[in-house]
Amino acid sequence: MMLRSRRVLVVCHCLLNSNAKVQPLAKVGGVHADVLKNYIDDGVGLLQLPCPELAYLGINRWGMTREQYDHPNFRSHCESISAPSVHQIEAFVQAGYEIVGIMGMDGSPNCGVNRTCLGYRGGEVAGLGDGGGGRNALRMVPGTGVFMEVLRAVLENKGLRISFLAVNEGNPCDNA
Ligand code: SF4
Repeated sequence: MMLRSRRVLVVCHCLLNSNAKVQPLAKVGGVHADVLKNYIDDGVGLLQLPCPELAYLGINRWGMTREQYDHPNFRSHCESISAPSVHQIEAFVQAGYEIVGIMGMDGSPNCGVNRTCLGYRGGEVAGLGDGGGGRNALRMVPGTGVFMEVLRAVLENKGLRISFLAVNEGNPCDNA
């Protein structure tokens, strides 16, 4: 008896590992079981994307905005780290499996799908919180994060049109 569902949900890294988030923020200890429970119960497999921020800046990075990440070298980084996932998605599609969707994290400068964060004004970290160039400048706006934008473009170039969905943690952008 074949048990496999032939259905796969692609998830942003921190849905399966909230330890990747900017310190010290995380809504759960590790896995967002609340978000994923129904998929798991339905037998949907999970394919975990890499965390572009962790891979680029490590675990001691500051929370940053979309403008700070949106530059050619970071986009190239996103393309290169997502390549193995894209190849796996392609392989599943080629074999007739269903990619249920790609689930990002709304509010993130990288993994936001419907909502991302802007607000860079320059300055030094020492100014954070003073309302001049730091946290008070942050704002949530409709839009896609850099990583999800790059991933979508790569998939579309390959003729893969997969629906993007997102979790909304209801946090400010630097939680992602
Ligand atoms: S939402 Fe943030 S912490 Fe989560 S995978 Fe994306 S970049 Fe990494």
